[in-house]
Amino acid sequence: YVKEKGKNSFQFFSDEMNHQFYRKMVIEKELRSALSRNELTLHYQPSWHLSTEKVCGMEALLRWTNQTLGPVSPSEFIPVAEETGLIIPIGEWVLKEACKQNVRWQRAGYPPMKVGVNVSIKQLLDESFACMVKDVLKRTGLNPDYLDLEVTESIAMYELDIMIRKLNELKEIGVSISMDDFGTGYSSLSYLKQYPLDTLKIDRSFIKGISSHEDHKAIVMSIISMAKHLQLKVTAEGVEDMGEYDFLKQTECDVIQGYAISRPLSPDDFEKHVFGKMKL
Ligand code: C2E
Ligand code: MG
Ligand code: MG
Ligand code: MG
Repeated sequence: YVKEKGKNSFQFFSDEMNHQFYRKMVIEKELRSALSRNELTLHYQPSWHLSTEKVCGMEALLRWTNQTLGPVSPSEFIPVAEETGLIIPIGEWVLKEACKQNVRWQRAGYPPMKVGVNVSIKQLLDESFACMVKDVLKRTGLNPDYLDLEVTESIAMYELDIMIRKLNELKEIGVSISMDDFGTGYSSLSYLKQYPLDTLKIDRSFIKGISSHEDHKAIVMSIISMAKHLQLKVTAEGVEDMGEYDFLKQTECDVIQGYAISRPLSPDDFEKHVFGKMKL
């Protein structure tokens, strides 16, 4: 039957699906040895305090350049790392590296500021996560005041009591907690109030074109005012132009992050372009 219809008339997978399947398989295989081959690095994106007009922190963002695949975006390999459990060792490496770098910069005399580290739900659910964080802080010598852990709204898919307990364990260590990509998930507002959070990071999909989208303006204004009522700080992600900047300044958003300020930078470039322009 298949033969009769000709070679290409019946395919279970389209070429596109085959290609994606194959790429994912290669990513999975290569990711397993990414750590031991030193293929992972961190870039740092500065965050900007709107009222003082100063850099006030940085977010560590993972970068992977593979020997055969070349650079692979985190939005492609992080989901694979999560599925395979590789996010546990990789996440630990990220935390260690970010803390080490922060201590190095503080010891070099640069102005101390918080580093944000993304934490996936798999890590948060790992029994030894809080212990690991405590241990990394101790071994690197970073004061917990300078570490912010970013979790996503997907924590709302798990039992409220369990998540509150997990987050409280982290708060007891002395670190702060941000909810990343806020607005894209399923957290109900009544949940939000119960998590021990410090900051809401508004997802960049709401910021994009904010100057011309009345509905996005309304959403962002509501998130900012809600956050203030809940005594949370607000960060807007993905601020790319001055129209967006001005709107967020007017609406009294606390902190912004985005290409309007800077792209994520290698440690060397961060020293040159961010610390280099600050008065020490
Ligand atoms: P995220 O935590 O929400 O990080 C912000 C993402 O937006 C970064 O993408 C950053 O490069 C990008 N970005 C920043 N400013 C702008 C802007 O003005 N315009 C646009 N269009 N994009 C901007 P990146 O580095 O590709 O990371 C994507 C996601 O991968 C992160 O989203 C985070 O969820 C995840 N990720 C990155 N590093 C790690 C990590 O170490 N651990 C875990 N678990 N996830 C990570
Ligand atoms: Mg983040
Ligand atoms: Mg985000
Ligand atoms: Mg994210």
